Amino acid sequence: MCSESFALKLEIPSPVLEIVNELHHHGYQAFIVGGAVRDIQLGQRPKDWDIATDALPEDVESIFGERAIPTGERFGTITVVFHRGEKAGSGQAKGADYLEEDGHAAEVTTFRSDGIYSDGRRPDSVSFSSSIEEDLARRDFTINALAYDPFRHEIVDPFNGMRDLRERRISCVGKPEARFKEDALRMLRAVRLAAELSFEICPDTKHAILSMAHSITKISKERIRAELDRMLVSPDVKRGLDLLQGTGLLGHIIPELQQTVGMEQGSNHIHTVWRHTMDAVCRIEPALALRLAALLHDVGKPATLSRDEQGRIWFHHHDIVGAEIAASIMRRLGYPSDLITHVSSLIKYHMFRFNTEATDGDIRRLVAQLGLDFIYDLAKLREADREATGTMHGMGENMTLLLHRIREALARGPILHLKDLAIDGSDIMDILNIPPGPKVGAILHRLLDMVMDDPSLNTKEKLLELARELNNH
Ligand code: ATP
Ligand code: MG
Repeated sequence: MCSESFALKLEIPSPVLEIVNELHHHGYQAFIVGGAVRDIQLGQRPKDWDIATDALPEDVESIFGERAIPTGERFGTITVVFHRGEKAGSGQAKGADYLEEDGHAAEVTTFRSDGIYSDGRRPDSVSFSSSIEEDLARRDFTINALAYDPFRHEIVDPFNGMRDLRERRISCVGKPEARFKEDALRMLRAVRLAAELSFEICPDTKHAILSMAHSITKISKERIRAELDRMLVSPDVKRGLDLLQGTGLLGHIIPELQQTVGMEQGSNHIHTVWRHTMDAVCRIEPALALRLAALLHDVGKPATLSRDEQGRIWFHHHDIVGAEIAASIMRRLGYPSDLITHVSSLIKYHMFRFNTEATDGDIRRLVAQLGLDFIYDLAKLREADREATGTMHGMGENMTLLLHRIREALARGPILHLKDLAIDGSDIMDILNIPPGPKVGAILHRLLDMVMDDPSLNTKEKLLELARELNNH
């Protein structure tokens, strides 16, 4: 153990200290472990708090009573909920600002060592241990294999994780090939961590990923997606995408994108399709839907590539074809259907131009059809896409004008849906003396159209009069 090299760059919140203290008080060892130690040392706010102890799960349960929730007992994990009043934003707890975002509980896990991994994904068995060193040895990377005792201010660092943190390097605990053979997801975790922390992956770890990338196909889509999503919204996403592609992982996770690597394109572009794609991802804000849309927006290019007689390159309908391909990729990776619809629609419309002759009514109908949020996302994608060509700037004239026209049209009248009309179906049936049926709906839709063109028509009187006229024609 050593204590000199560890600088506590952020305060540890008191509910976490209290759990460690309580375990010590009952005669057990207890350390803060994993990502939290790494993040504190880097001066970043930990996403979650993991505590490792030699207390068995049943001991942890009896110490913390009702606050203990057996969330992963088979693996020795008990979630310990913070005391009431210690939770987010109560202001009572020291370091409460942390907890605002970081939840209300810590995971307390018994020291363990993992058995044999025969399926390349998870250990066949786990056994509890009384040694923190043994517990750290099963962890993936040296920077994640640190334990910190906040009372003794001691750091347990058997694999030189502190040195790697200082040197900003991701390195496997033990032999990389052996560790990736146990659990192939670790390869993708290395890439995700590199992107989140802006760290290098050390050469032998990277080399092992290169030679074992194919084994990522053994991993479930849920685990792959969790890492991919975090990589996509991370601060150094460029590094993540470069590594994903350079190590060969991309070719096994999204082979459709691998085909864009090295692919030259037409006159507006100075970069290959993949390089342009990476640029677009970096330029769009780190919201998952936007990052996915940027990542997949040109995925239709390989399938639509053609050359004309002058040798110019074209990608006719790559937006439409790309939207289909993107949806199939996202379905394969198990994304929720509303996200698939949003992302593939953004891709489908990413070349869309609105007709500058459109009336206010046409603009309102467009907004009613696509939704305002969708159009704003489309503008962001358009801007990132154009800027990433290396030759264009801003979101372009057509999109700028569309946003301007939307603002104007909305100032003059709201976007309406059937439910916002001053009359409803029963008013129509009463006044026209007709039974329920398709005719009622048809008249309502026609009225909505008229109100979109002229919002001042939306009064009961005027609409009933118009309904009578429509009925007579
Ligand atoms: P973050 O919380 O920022 O994702 P983390 O490092 O805490 O980062 P978790 O997924 O919360 O990551 O895992 C907690 C700890 O468990 C890690 O720090 C690491 O020590 C260990 N760990 C997680 N996944 C694996 C794995 N697949 N193989 C080996 N150890 C792992
Ligand atoms: Mg964590």
